[in-house]
Amino acid sequence: MSYVDEVYEYVVAKNPAQPEFHQAVKEVLDSLRVVIEEHEADYKRDALLERIVTPERQILFRVPWVDDKGQVQVNNGFRIQFNSAIGPYKGGLRLHPSVNLGIIKFLGFEQVFKNSLTGLPIGGGKGCSDFDPKGKSDREVMAFCQSFMTELSRHIGQFTDVPAGDIGTGAREIGYMYGIYKKINNRYEGVLTGKGLTYGGSLARTEATGYGLIYLTEEMLKANGTDLKGKICTVSGAGNVAIYAIQKAHELGAKVVTCSDSTGWIYDPEGIDVDLLKEVKEVKRARLTEYAAARKSAEYHEGKGVWTVKCDVALPCATQNELNLDDAKELVKNGVYAVCEGANMPTTPDATEYFQEQGVKFVCGKAANAGGVATSALEMSQNSERLHWTFEEVDEKLKGIMVNIFKNLDAAAKKYGMEGNYVAGANIAGFLKVAEAMQAQGIV
Ligand code: NDP
Repeated sequence: MSYVDEVYEYVVAKNPAQPEFHQAVKEVLDSLRVVIEEHEADYKRDALLERIVTPERQILFRVPWVDDKGQVQVNNGFRIQFNSAIGPYKGGLRLHPSVNLGIIKFLGFEQVFKNSLTGLPIGGGKGCSDFDPKGKSDREVMAFCQSFMTELSRHIGQFTDVPAGDIGTGAREIGYMYGIYKKINNRYEGVLTGKGLTYGGSLARTEATGYGLIYLTEEMLKANGTDLKGKICTVSGAGNVAIYAIQKAHELGAKVVTCSDSTGWIYDPEGIDVDLLKEVKEVKRARLTEYAAARKSAEYHEGKGVWTVKCDVALPCATQNELNLDDAKELVKNGVYAVCEGANMPTTPDATEYFQEQGVKFVCGKAANAGGVATSALEMSQNSERLHWTFEEVDEKLKGIMVNIFKNLDAAAKKYGMEGNYVAGANIAGFLKVAEAMQAQGIV
């Protein structure tokens, strides 16, 4: 049995009932086979793969808080400090009732390679709670955030672990967490990113993941002799990533005709109206039915259906495993040219394989959505310098980072004889830097 297969079996045996984590490890290790075979004796002697698939530290904790009726509620809190070989742990905090240890480990594992791909000095981590901010009052959200951070604060710090937002953790939650961290530690430091602009946040962080996705998509299309101008795009999701991806795609001349939320989806053949979408989702925090009610050209459909719409470029920006093999077949039948993932692991493995077999240009999330964490690292730099950069400075740096990510993964795929396989290219480029740093630092 090959070293890769041995380690995959080891992961399944050591981490039972964590299918998303198994899936993420399998996807990464499978695409690294040629690289691992090249270094097999050294890696095996040093148990490099066993170490890279095992988090350095897993913190599981209780989060008690009092709701508006005076009832005590108890949630689970998690922080996975996965790998610090190239910098302090960095990765978001997800607040969603569906989260569990397997999901957060998959996200932390992916984050290690994503952060490495940015070229910036950040290790990988991820955190979460099964708390659901939806339908809670501001006071309840604050009570939860304060309790969550009271425990988490002892494990993080600007040189140790710097969490950020993710699904369910927006500006409001980051603000409450930052406030209580400062009170507990009596330190004004860049311990969280995604902060408000008045207290250490970076301009362009809100836009970064969506914009970054489009910068990378444009670079990939250019490398294949085309660009976004005049292309029809479909986007899923209607959150932070989706909104700013739609905005930037429109700026570059594409037309985005769909978006979705967890209950339904919009088809708007005249192109999504981003200002209206922001009003519905960012201001009113309402359902997409309100978008349809306010816009004549839009159709609202219950359930799932974005991938049935004919498009040139598909951009899944909602959640994991939202685009399956049937969706992939439908997209290919409708002539899709490229798929770039804005969300983390939105495409199932069989759907990814199908796209690759059918010659669809496919860029995985760890490369395509790295703009968010890259800009978080730029926020850390500004906090360390005690300076603020302009929107244009940050945006320009973000663009440069996304272009470089594409160049590096394209070059890695070519070097290992897999030209055009951008998944393998991203995994190889991300992995090699982390592996080299781990080898240099000894057995730790
Ligand atoms: P948000 O919470 O802002 O938005 C998520 C959106 O997806 C919401 O509109 C939500 O609907 C919708 N959604 C959730 N589940 C489904 C589903 N099953 N079907 C259709 N729509 C669904 O999150 P983000 O935009 O921040 O994150 C989206 C993805 O991008 C996640 O995978 C996240 O990990 C990843 N990501 C985010 C980064 C960031 O900087 N924000 C950085 C890198 C990756 P509803 O409105 O009903 O809740």
